[in-house]
Amino acid sequence: MNFWQSDMRRGIFGGTFDPVHYGHLILAETCRDTCLLDEVIWLPTFQSPFKSGSQPTDARHRLAMIDLAIAGVAEFRIDPREINRKQVSYTVETLTEMKAEFPEDELFFLIGADSLRDLPSWKEPERIVSLATIVAVNRQAGQLGRIQSDFEALPESIRERVQIVNMPEIGISATDLRERVEAKSSIRFLTPRPVERYIAENNLYRESQ
Ligand code: ATP
Repeated sequence: MNFWQSDMRRGIFGGTFDPVHYGHLILAETCRDTCLLDEVIWLPTFQSPFKSGSQPTDARHRLAMIDLAIAGVAEFRIDPREINRKQVSYTVETLTEMKAEFPEDELFFLIGADSLRDLPSWKEPERIVSLATIVAVNRQAGQLGRIQSDFEALPESIRERVQIVNMPEIGISATDLRERVEAKSSIRFLTPRPVERYIAENNLYRESQ
């Protein structure tokens, strides 16, 4: 794929990915498929503005694990810009940069539907939706009612730029993976095998760290 070709539909998937797991992979693939994206750009955050209390694992490891997880998937790639900036990044800043790089392209910013109600409190939400369509991914069938009411509560100018995508419920979280490793429980089949091996070989998420 030629990344410089214009008029592409580019999905942007931000997260801490500490570590990456099958929930993330299925979300990215569901959005690629449903929104007809030419590529999904994985955008690991240096530190989420919403998780300022906890320090994520060294970015070098988080990047390496995403690299292993998406190896061989032509439509997935990593963009390390937020990591390289070494400070808290705001979505609006990153999207502004990306839009300048790909002015002809249509950008889609992927978020969990549970974040929908917070969207108006993000930095410059109106500008965010002028730069990208928000793809809100609903992962829990039982939550449809709540998501619909969160959606309807959005100001119209934001709402008209939000698309809701449903994905199968995958009960996996990075928190659970970290806790399992610390408790010496298995994480097999929760994340790809190369990521599982990387975690073991690098002694990640052990209590002693
Ligand atoms: P943590 O448990 O450390 O909070 P996490 O597993 O939620 O992490 P993040 O890196 O914070 O992972 O998530 C990035 C994005 O992926 C978020 O939008 C989140 O809603 C979404 N996501 C995470 N796990 C799943 C899952 N199992 N199914 C669908 N979406 C998920």
